[in-house]
Amino acid sequence: MARPPGDPVLSYDLALPPRILFGWGRLVELGKLARELGTRAFLVSGSKTLSAQGALERIRLILTDAEVECAPLGTIEREPEVADVDRLAQALADRQPKGGDFVLAVGGGSAIDLAKAVAALAVNRQGAGVRDYLEGVGRGLTLTRSPLPILALPTTAGTGSEATKNAVISSFDPPFKKSLRDYRLIPRAVLVDPELTVSLPPTITAYTGMDAITQLIESFISCKAQPVPRAIALEGLTKAIPALELAVQDGANREAREAMSHAALLSGIALANSGLGMAHGVAAALGVLHRIPHGLACAVMLPAALRCNRETCQRELAFLARAVLSRPYSYDSTAAIAFIERIEQLSARIGIPSRLSDLGVGRDQLGPLVQASRGNSMNGNPRPLADAELYAV
Ligand code: NAD
Repeated sequence: MARPPGDPVLSYDLALPPRILFGWGRLVELGKLARELGTRAFLVSGSKTLSAQGALERIRLILTDAEVECAPLGTIEREPEVADVDRLAQALADRQPKGGDFVLAVGGGSAIDLAKAVAALAVNRQGAGVRDYLEGVGRGLTLTRSPLPILALPTTAGTGSEATKNAVISSFDPPFKKSLRDYRLIPRAVLVDPELTVSLPPTITAYTGMDAITQLIESFISCKAQPVPRAIALEGLTKAIPALELAVQDGANREAREAMSHAALLSGIALANSGLGMAHGVAAALGVLHRIPHGLACAVMLPAALRCNRETCQRELAFLARAVLSRPYSYDSTAAIAFIERIEQLSARIGIPSRLSDLGVGRDQLGPLVQASRGNSMNGNPRPLADAELYAV
């Protein structure tokens, strides 16, 4: 059989969590799942709201019933920084982790990433700290010992960090936002209970939801896209695009919350195996240079990224238009533009600004922004973008 023109050679890696429980109310199954990993859980949590509402106490009781000790390690309500990782990794190392210990992350991408990095650094003590292990900024150290096992319970529906092999860590002096990346950082077990996301306020629902949508689209059109993650991304997108506005308007809507948690999980699997693109490259720079929350930064950049890549991936965008808009489009520019317009319309309806100036980024700040956008995500962009073109976009 001849390979159709344009079809890539089939050769790929696929890595995803070995155990995933998904479903409304399935938090009750945490004890059994935790027991599969060990008997002492070091807890990294990420939301005061959930704590105030009793969710963390409920988690502690479920673990105790399953004879798993719950040892609080730390909390974080903003994106994790180098010093957070170094402090908690030292605290965990001081407690001399042994067989049967694991790290339990309960929170958004920030708490899950912090937990991943701490699980790795607590048992990899060769460097001066996590910076030595971060891509592009450290000494290039790699993990010589397997991180402690990680059990992730996401409480936002956005990053998909529960399914990825990296932890994103920031520094503001010097400014960088980089990943610690290793296949062994993929959580050993994941429990996604969409009920945990009901307490997310509308703005965070909108930002994190657009992060998931950006990840699903960018991984689908990435120059590194692979067939299985593409199928997964398509499933996520057809669920997320109709659901996000509803989740923002009515946070208690069970179907909308389920769809968004499902889409976020799938976006993590897709990005971890296909890469991302320009929106995520610039979002990392916006996070570290302008302290813009990750999801908001992705959301503002997504329409611009799609327009600038449209001609290169017209067929893929048209394919998404047919699937998401349920219209029998041809694979042409009309369909690709219709898809981009649907994304712009969704962003506007959930209150996402459309310009960098709306985020307080001035024209004179674009040069450093372009320079700081050259992280790993940019390598997945459908086509190379020179600095001058990125500046113009
Ligand atoms: P977040 O974890 O920072 O959470 C946002 C806010 O929501 C926080 O203040 C948090 O306390 C609060 N919150 C969380 N759950 C809540 C709940 N159920 N109810 C009420 N409030 C709640 O935000 P995020 O977007 O999930 O994570 C962002 C981080 O994840 C960034 O650092 C980003 O770079 C990173 N990220 C990582 C990956 C990966 O693969 N590792 C992928 C994408 C993004």
